[in-house]
Amino acid sequence: MARLRGFLGAAVRSHWCLTRPHRSDAHVIRNAGGRASEAVRSLVISQQLLGTREIVIVHHTDCGMLTFTDSALAKIIKDNLGVDVGDRKFLPFGDLDASVREDVDLLANEPLIMKGTPIAGLVYDVKTGALREVSRAVKA
Ligand SMILES: [Zn+2]
Repeated sequence: MARLRGFLGAAVRSHWCLTRPHRSDAHVIRNAGGRASEAVRSLVISQQLLGTREIVIVHHTDCGMLTFTDSALAKIIKDNLGVDVGDRKFLPFGDLDASVREDVDLLANEPLIMKGTPIAGLVYDVKTGALREVSRAVKA
């Protein structure tokens, strides 16, 4: 599992500056695959206590999350730990753009995200460094 570099960027104040992120007040939340469902707890804290008003979801090409399935990981865990994880979801994905759209939609429908929050979903190309927008929504 070489690369698990997906992250969510939650911009505090006015603007998430993608070209100069060090100049923005960005609260960067990272997890395997950059999955939104795992980040909700951190996003709520970021919005309610730190003033975050925008969310940028970034998944990346060549992601390790594209390389396994829940059932394959469940077998590895069973072999290594002797634990049956049942139908627990580890949120791998087979389609990068689809996973970004799914996560934008998830946050756009999450009651704990503030109404009016702009949510952008991007794919970062690890070969070229380019960011490509896949999806955009505003929390209704
Ligand atoms: Zn990754």
